[in-house]
Amino acid sequence: MDYFPIFTQLKNRRVLLVGAGEVAARKLDLLYQAGASVTIVAPHIGTAVQQQLQLDANGEQRIRVHQRPYHEHDITAVHLVIAATNNQAVNQAVFRDAERNHIFVNVVDQQPLCSFITPAIVDRAPLTIAISSAGQAPVLARLIRAKLESWIPTRYGKLAQLAQKFRDQVKQTLSTGAQRKRFWETIFEGPVANKVFANRTAAAEQALLSTLQNFTADERTQTGEVYLVGAGPGDPDLLTFKALRLMQQADVVVYDRLVSKPILNLVRRDAQRIFVGKQRANHCLSQTGINELLIKLAKQGLRVVRLKGGDPYIFGRGGEEAQQLVAAGVAFEVVPGITSAAGTSSYCGIPLTHRDFAQSVTFATGHLKNDSVELDWTALAQTNNTLVVYMGLASLNIISEQLIAHGRNKQIPVAVVQNATRPDQKVVIGTLETIADKVQQAKLSSPAMIIIGEVVALYDELNLTEQNSQTIDVPQYPVSQAYDEEALFQKTA
Ligand code: SAH
Repeated sequence: MDYFPIFTQLKNRRVLLVGAGEVAARKLDLLYQAGASVTIVAPHIGTAVQQQLQLDANGEQRIRVHQRPYHEHDITAVHLVIAATNNQAVNQAVFRDAERNHIFVNVVDQQPLCSFITPAIVDRAPLTIAISSAGQAPVLARLIRAKLESWIPTRYGKLAQLAQKFRDQVKQTLSTGAQRKRFWETIFEGPVANKVFANRTAAAEQALLSTLQNFTADERTQTGEVYLVGAGPGDPDLLTFKALRLMQQADVVVYDRLVSKPILNLVRRDAQRIFVGKQRANHCLSQTGINELLIKLAKQGLRVVRLKGGDPYIFGRGGEEAQQLVAAGVAFEVVPGITSAAGTSSYCGIPLTHRDFAQSVTFATGHLKNDSVELDWTALAQTNNTLVVYMGLASLNIISEQLIAHGRNKQIPVAVVQNATRPDQKVVIGTLETIADKVQQAKLSSPAMIIIGEVVALYDELNLTEQNSQTIDVPQYPVSQAYDEEALFQKTA
């Protein structure tokens, strides 16, 4: 180990900062957050430092400034020294004087002039993660930091605060260290933590207390919780951090046909997976069946992730499931996902709104009921409105006909996109008049998104993918996968 890691308590301790440029401002910011009293010595004070001085002058008054060149005597009676100047003679003098006085010193970005180095940090106060490459590969340390930043929820620190608040009470209730360890693991990895991350502090505290009351060696005795999670249109990179985290904590994942294979692969390995199908006119399990299943699993004390394509609250029947969970008294949370309209739009280069082409956008379902589509055609046929139709492949000809009949220009461009955001994405472009035939010729199949409106004209200019036309011959989204999962479901249901 080249450097010994420590966390220093700087509250009301004096730190000398030599220099007052941009770099010094960044150091000042961190020192200030740590509660230090900072003395700045510099002949010129940069604007960023000036701004912080202003804030301090109106607040805690912990910064002192000597606007003059550095002098040896500045080093006395301080705990730590940081030099951030572009004058090498000054940097060297600071280092030399600090060493002589046995005071820790850091000359920013000059390792030979440092008796301590500052790590890359992930700040989830009171939780702080420091990463160092001993100065050998700072970029590497920063990359690791970026990974941790994205992986650790921003409110993670709040968990530590919660633990602090209930620490004594837990100690009184649970007598052995092993019990307490298991208890805190349950809290930090379960519904209580998720409530904290969702900023529901009161609910989290309540859940913690009830967990504490009922806590036995087997934490499965509590009621579970259901997470209605949006998995996005298919590209796993479009998952939210929260979705991924919950998928990796789940005991059981209930998913449907729109959830892509690469996304399912991200589910915790030993979680049970239950396929509940759903295909037009071929529902694998009725909606009532799905609702009952979710409730049953939660009541077994399981952490249930109900994984849905796109966003759970956009044509995903998430609302109905949530209502049933409420009625059954099962706790739940909803995690938004990128809806397929948004995914299709970005991945095909078709902005849904544009100042020159569309001032509004409508999401509609093309789902057939008794072989007809019940929509307000007059409203949908407005010019300068983008109409996005979900589940509309089977009714595409009806939709086009009705829009034309209600006054929409038949030359308006239309895009139909199958498997948007997936490697086998297929796009067919036509007009209201031609699109139904073109789609039939291209043999597109579900899932497909229909975008109708002036904005589709931007496709030629903004589409960035290379495989962008109906001519590509690609395997369809593997439905065969579904059958295995169905068999699994039969066993588990
Ligand atoms: N909740 C989902 C929509 C479910 S309805 C969401 O927010 O996206 C199912 C319809 O969504 C499909 O019929 C299709 O129109 C659309 N869809 C879902 N994923 C898609 C994809 N990858 N490409 C194109 N359309 C998709």
